[in-house]
Amino acid sequence: MKKQFAVIGLGRFGGSICQSLVKQGMEVLAIDISEDKINKYANIATHAVIADSTDEDTLKSLGIRNFDHVIVAIGDNIQSSILTTLMLVEQGVRHITVKAQNDYHEKVLNKIGAHKVVHPERDMGVRIAHNIVSKNVLDYLELSDEYSIVELMAGETVNGKSLIDLNIRAKFGCNIMAIKRKEEINVSPTADELIIQGDILIVIGADNDLNRLEQDLF
Ligand code: ADP
Repeated sequence: MKKQFAVIGLGRFGGSICQSLVKQGMEVLAIDISEDKINKYANIATHAVIADSTDEDTLKSLGIRNFDHVIVAIGDNIQSSILTTLMLVEQGVRHITVKAQNDYHEKVLNKIGAHKVVHPERDMGVRIAHNIVSKNVLDYLELSDEYSIVELMAGETVNGKSLIDLNIRAKFGCNIMAIKRKEEINVSPTADELIIQGDILIVIGADNDLNRLEQDLF
């Protein structure tokens, strides 16, 4: 059976989640308090309803607890976002993902039982900053406060060198998990694997070590 999603709040973030889920073949109920937004998404989402998600009876009548995953993407109105999340938790929704506006908001959402809190502006800021510092940093995924996974594009400095030549694990304490070359991905590169300019290396490590690696070799 197809997974059932509900997206509450159809601003830029919620709207984009809704469109992307539909593209992936999921069933999506789009909910927004604004009639304009619902008109806009009526032909995109599987169902679209005008509703105030802070109203408990409304949420119950939509059968929100039966959805596999509910995404709360209410932007500026932190109070509505918190109240909505709290009611989703109380009604026993299995997976609740909420967009946080700032660190305090995030803290409250975690405390009241949101399963996943996302901070798209902050995360995108971190990614873009890494990409600005080095054009060879394609993507950046924070695993914790200290550890990340980074996608690095191999440039001239590492062209034709093997992993053993570069000695990245000993020198930088980072691990190359995979190497992408065009459509192919090698998920267990051996020490004698030669890197070619344009390869994408997927590296895991502590942030400090990754920063040194980016600056020295990429
Ligand atoms: P973004 O920063 O992602 O663009 P916005 O703040 O522009 O976010 O959008 C949030 C959306 O959430 C708006 O479309 C707004 O109408 C909707 N929204 C706000 N409060 C509620 C609520 N109580 N119930 C349902 N939708 C709401």
